[in-house]
Amino acid sequence: MFTTIHQLPPLAPGSAHSLVMQSFGEEGARPEVYVQASLHADEIPGMICAVHLRERLLALEDARLVIGRINLVPVANPLGLGQIVFGHAMGRFALGDGVNFNRDYPHLTPGVAARIDGRLGADPHANKALIRQAIADEIEAWTPSTQVGALKKILVSLASGADLILDLHCDSEGAMHLYTQPTSADVFAPLGAFLGSRATLTAVESGGDPFDEVFSRPWVELRARFPDHPVPLASHSVTVELRGQADVGHTTGRADADAIVAFLRHCGVVGGAAPPIPAVEASVTPLASAEPLTAPSSGIVAFHVEPGAMVKAGDAIADIIDPISGAVTVVTAQSDGVLFARGANRFTSAGKRLGKIAGTTLNRSGRLLSL
Ligand SMILES: [Zn+2]
Repeated sequence: MFTTIHQLPPLAPGSAHSLVMQSFGEEGARPEVYVQASLHADEIPGMICAVHLRERLLALEDARLVIGRINLVPVANPLGLGQIVFGHAMGRFALGDGVNFNRDYPHLTPGVAARIDGRLGADPHANKALIRQAIADEIEAWTPSTQVGALKKILVSLASGADLILDLHCDSEGAMHLYTQPTSADVFAPLGAFLGSRATLTAVESGGDPFDEVFSRPWVELRARFPDHPVPLASHSVTVELRGQADVGHTTGRADADAIVAFLRHCGVVGGAAPPIPAVEASVTPLASAEPLTAPSSGIVAFHVEPGAMVKAGDAIADIIDPISGAVTVVTAQSDGVLFARGANRFTSAGKRLGKIAGTTLNRSGRLLSL
């Protein structure tokens, strides 16, 4: 294992933050895989998964079974991890300016397209190398002005050359699920199966510019923009939602690390026979069809349905109970599908998100992700 430490610019004189990456296998070996945990710093399932993943990768390295290169960032957000407010971890938004740590990443396609215009040829390998370099140049030219921006730039720089990028998150309460590009869904289907994922939500553009979209989206868009030249889809990225925030323990951490190692074996990143891909009941649906369940009024939340359950249109998902009158408002599903996530708070105000269903009937547009 080789460790690199990246210093972040200080927020104030005397303060210091750093980002640690642990690498396995030879630099430059392929396939290259980048895994980061807990970009939303209060989502700890990814962090404990990373601990067990590191143990496994160290053993694989000792056994000389690392074929490609794996770069692991076990704490992707040291800034957010230090944000404790009145005893509560606040890891989703930067307290200084309200920025979501997993939104508003750069859309690289226009800049990369300008850099490669007129330079693509008939050889897909040469085109891949040209585009990779243009992506690296485009990231290098990015000059963020804030500390959070500097963190985002380092993370993007570390991940951008990888063939496969796994961003480990979790929901408030949730079943295992994935977000990825439509063209990457097949690549990550084995990962979803090994993890026991219940749903994969796909979008070319989710509207929020999350971290994972930085990497696979340009290749898809460049292929469409330059149809006369072979452009491979050379980077596939995925956001892995490792259940809910409270689902942190050795049992799930070990199981999730084993699933990732099985996927790495399947992809030829590490040696040894990959286990057979389990048959799982999981849907692949457009993110545009994911149904957000919204509270119509304030009140106590009493759920009828557990995360991961299949629901039908019209099913009661939750009661919203007025604590003074006792009046009950029932929140029902509009679509058939999997209830893949739900909120952790048991008192809601009107308009708050209560849960999400991976359905098939809706066709939303605009900003498709949660705030
Ligand atoms: Zn997250």
